[in-house]
Amino acid sequence: DNPDLTAFKAALDGIRFHDSQKHLAARSHDYFWYSPILNDQLKDKIGDLLVVPQSVEEVMQVASLIAKYKLPLTLRGGGTGNYGQCVPMNGGVIMDLTRLDKVLEITKGHVRVQAGARISRLDDAAHETGQELLMYPSTRQMATIGGFLAGGSGGIGSLRHGMLRDPGNVSYVKIITVEEDPQVIELHGGDIQKVQHAFGTNGIMVELGLALTPKTDWIHTAALFDGYDRALNFATKAQKDGMDCYLLTAVERRFASYYTKFGDLFPADRDAIFAMVAPDEMDRFTAEAKAQGGRVSFAMTKEKIREAGLQPAYECGWNHTTLQALKVDPGWTYLQVAYPRPFDVDVVMRQMARYGDDIFWHHEMARQDGDIQIFALPLVRYRGKDEMYRLIAELEQTDGCTIFDPHVITIEDGGMKEIDTAQIDFKKRADPYGLMNPGKTRGWTDDMARRDDQHQQGETA
Ligand code: FAD
Repeated sequence: DNPDLTAFKAALDGIRFHDSQKHLAARSHDYFWYSPILNDQLKDKIGDLLVVPQSVEEVMQVASLIAKYKLPLTLRGGGTGNYGQCVPMNGGVIMDLTRLDKVLEITKGHVRVQAGARISRLDDAAHETGQELLMYPSTRQMATIGGFLAGGSGGIGSLRHGMLRDPGNVSYVKIITVEEDPQVIELHGGDIQKVQHAFGTNGIMVELGLALTPKTDWIHTAALFDGYDRALNFATKAQKDGMDCYLLTAVERRFASYYTKFGDLFPADRDAIFAMVAPDEMDRFTAEAKAQGGRVSFAMTKEKIREAGLQPAYECGWNHTTLQALKVDPGWTYLQVAYPRPFDVDVVMRQMARYGDDIFWHHEMARQDGDIQIFALPLVRYRGKDEMYRLIAELEQTDGCTIFDPHVITIEDGGMKEIDTAQIDFKKRADPYGLMNPGKTRGWTDDMARRDDQHQQGETA
């Protein structure tokens, strides 16, 4: 019944939209339900209108109308974010970008692509030219490349190529501003950080350029160990020795009951390393596993894994591990933990002893700023919000870990810890009316409050 929304709808002039409750409900949520805290906060939020532009021109028309009618705008790719990034806090318009899905140009070492392209399609297109993406989230099948840049951080491949924000991984991003007369802004090099992990609060990405690397026919494999410390020692040594892997993820034995498809390939009395290993490194992988008292449980090409009805190794790590567990036991939630460098396996063993059945562990080998960086996304038995924050404080204070809190909706309270003034300054330019994804950045809310204060003080003076 909002007259501005009615006028907006009328002005769409042929641009595809949906306003049925069914469409709106399906497109107003993401994977925030991994967190009972976010679930309580977000489950009833819903947008008022879903628009599905088919071209950059239509995106620009929508951006112009949003600015004209001052409606909240929430962007959406695959909707696989974990922190309610796609949830419209104040209703308004949801823009689904998945029709902007063209792979524009693939050259040696580089791809230009529209932001709404699914990562799997993009990677498959790169494969046809003998190349592959440097990294992707474990949601490769559903997530879009724009959503990854705006909401993600790294994942499968980060072991080899670092995190998304490391220099050289993204070459440029094209942004549309939300103004009556929308502008196209192209960001290069370090300027890309202005919109990376900004949750779609400061401009609509429509196109980006990414580095590619020559394709490897990765072997999906698992090695089994009698002891999680042995598994971790194997993985960290493999990484230090520069073994050519695209994924090395350590998954402790208590997950075996959630990885049901693997049966005896991941038995309940062994801890596992799931990996994607270069074919010519398989002998070394097998020998090193043996040296740690382990053995290779299976080793298959991607095609063979599918034929066998198993998940690819990249769906056995990162946040897919949480998904596998939640399907069986909804009493779990999770945390995101970065370990101090250099990584010390004993810290993990102490944590396992300290938390017993309240936390199940898996660890991801990655690289950040050129250095080895180990992350964990442990399953945590949910015992209320206070207990969650007590645990976070303990992991930070006792073990020196950094927690990226997945139970909050703002950029600053989650991963980033502090207000990124460059992102906020860019928002003033790309979203001058503050319409994009309201409530997701404290930097903007604080800045508005400061401006209001200054304004009031000016009036009193
Ligand atoms: P969405 O969820 O649709 O959007 C994410 C954010 O980006 C939202 O704030 C949205 O408004 C914004 N956005 C979307 N498109 C645009 C655009 N064109 N312009 C500007 N802003 C935009 N993340 C990782 O980094 N690594 C992982 O390994 C990983 N594993 C995961 C596993 C599971 C099982 C799940 C559920 C999530 C995982 N995630 C991971 C989180 C998430 O999948 C990734 O961040 C993913 O890349 C998001 O892509 P998407 O297209 O689904 O984005």
